[in-house]
Amino acid sequence: VLTEPELHHGEATVDHLRRALIAVYGTDFGLGRVDWLSRFTDMVRQAVDYRRGRVLLAGDAAHVHPPQGGQGLGIGVQDAVNLGWKLAQVVRGQSPHSLLDTYHAERHPVGERAIRNTMAQVALARPDERHEALREVMQRLLALDAGRREIGALMAGLDIRYDLGGGHPLVGRRVPDVELRTETGTTRPAELLRSGRPVLIDANTDVPVDIGPWTDRVRHVRARCEGDWEVPVLGRVRVPVAVLVRPDGHVAWAGDGGDPDLTRALDRWFGPAA
Ligand SMILES: Cc1cc2nc3c(=O)[nH]c(=O)nc-3n(C[C@H](O)[C@H](O)[C@H](O)COP(=O)(O)OP(=O)(O)OC[C@H]3O[C@@H](n4cnc5c(N)ncnc54)[C@H](O)[C@@H]3O)c2cc1C
Repeated sequence: VLTEPELHHGEATVDHLRRALIAVYGTDFGLGRVDWLSRFTDMVRQAVDYRRGRVLLAGDAAHVHPPQGGQGLGIGVQDAVNLGWKLAQVVRGQSPHSLLDTYHAERHPVGERAIRNTMAQVALARPDERHEALREVMQRLLALDAGRREIGALMAGLDIRYDLGGGHPLVGRRVPDVELRTETGTTRPAELLRSGRPVLIDANTDVPVDIGPWTDRVRHVRARCEGDWEVPVLGRVRVPVAVLVRPDGHVAWAGDGGDPDLTRALDRWFGPAA
């Protein structure tokens, strides 16, 4: 990866590459065949709306930023994972069109965060003395566990928490991929979500949680989970009696079966009762 001293528009050519190599190293190293060449800039852009009526934007069409930190592809895929199941439910007439607005509400802030942190990384990478001094400060902060955990979770997106209401600390976060023991053997949330359907993981050994008219849409899995759950950023969390997980792996509700918020969450995320 080479930085060109001047901004060029259009396709990169072998000649551009040769000149950039000579500018940096004083030689083109006898450059011969080039298999692949691409040009990108450190520009940042974000669509104001991810949804306007029937038009929905995801991936680089919704947000572009410099590649520092390798975040773009992951965020784009997560946009699609957030949108896919909502779109399916609306197309089937199971959920109202307003469900699609939650796509923008949840994903726009994630794109904005990536833009901000890649801008910061571009600034940190500047090759002058002042930025060198700033890099030293950052290195010292990142040598601390707390700093490393914070920035690591930010770059990996593991600290994302959608604002879904509800009092439990797991709500809005990705369900941790812990081992679950069911009557038929061990499994994990990621395995249960392969079908693309929502799942209620129910650890209540006495009375199963009743999901009433949503049984046709929500998979109900009774499972034992031992110990606390280790959740990125949050740390150890006591295992709730039951957890309702959306098809994108984010927790829609956590609590016990008597909690009226469960019905509200089922209705809000998976459509009115059949
Ligand atoms: C140098 C570099 C390194 C990167 N490294 C990483 C990394 O390590 N990790 C990471 O997560 N991300 C990385 N990224 C970002 C990542 O590549 C992008 O975020 C990702 O490819 C975006 O995927 P996308 O499907 O949204 O868009 P694109 O990959 O741009 O796909 C859009 C497609 O639509 C096609 N298209 C456009 N217009 C039309 C049309 N009118 N009709 C039909 N087709 C059309 C295009 O040809 C293209 O194939 C990097 C980016 C760069 C530039």
